[in-house]
Amino acid sequence: KKAKFPFVKTLTEFDFTVQTSVSEKRIRDLISRSFYRDGHNILLLGPPGVGKTHLAVAIALEAIDQGETALFIRSDEFIEAAKEAVEHNQIKKFLRQYARPTVLIMDEIGYAPFDATSAQILFQVVSKRYEEGSLIITSNKSYSEWGDMLGSTVLATAILDRLLHHSSVFNIRGDSYRLKEKIQAGVVP
Ligand code: ADP
Ligand code: MG
Repeated sequence: KKAKFPFVKTLTEFDFTVQTSVSEKRIRDLISRSFYRDGHNILLLGPPGVGKTHLAVAIALEAIDQGETALFIRSDEFIEAAKEAVEHNQIKKFLRQYARPTVLIMDEIGYAPFDATSAQILFQVVSKRYEEGSLIITSNKSYSEWGDMLGSTVLATAILDRLLHHSSVFNIRGDSYRLKEKIQAGVVP
């Protein structure tokens, strides 16, 4: 039951009436059919502040409620950890760690670029988990930008191919919820 979430926010705390580009039913259907069982992945795509991380955490919490394990890692932390594992000759241990949890959240993929080594390691993690574990990925990048992000179009294609084979993609639109809260509080005019 390991999880290092940035915050604990549930599905009931998510206001679907202000975020109309996400179907609550689609999310709830995934949870009620235990999406992770057949290695189904969830991609939450969209600009900053639209609720991607909130939803990722909330879905993982539901899986934990169903008795599963979940691990949360921000993409830049993953890159750092991968580098460290290489330096310390602990790649096998690293891969095992990221293969183990039923649900792996990779948050904010795209903000930090991958170097060649960490891109390779990401490919290995995705391959190892393919059809066995579930990945929840949040990103502000479109698929066409994954090549630049990973420093290789070939690798990006191979990763996306596996990720998307069994997946539900949510293209989330709208204004930042953070900004909305600030505007309401009168902090931002
Ligand atoms: P993103 O990961 O897309 O940048 P977050 O999930 O971190 O955005 O959301 C930013 C903040 O706004 C969080 O505190 C989150 O709980 C809140 N938030 C975003 N959308 C909603 C929503 N529809 N209902 C309730 N809270 C929301
Ligand atoms: Mg986020």
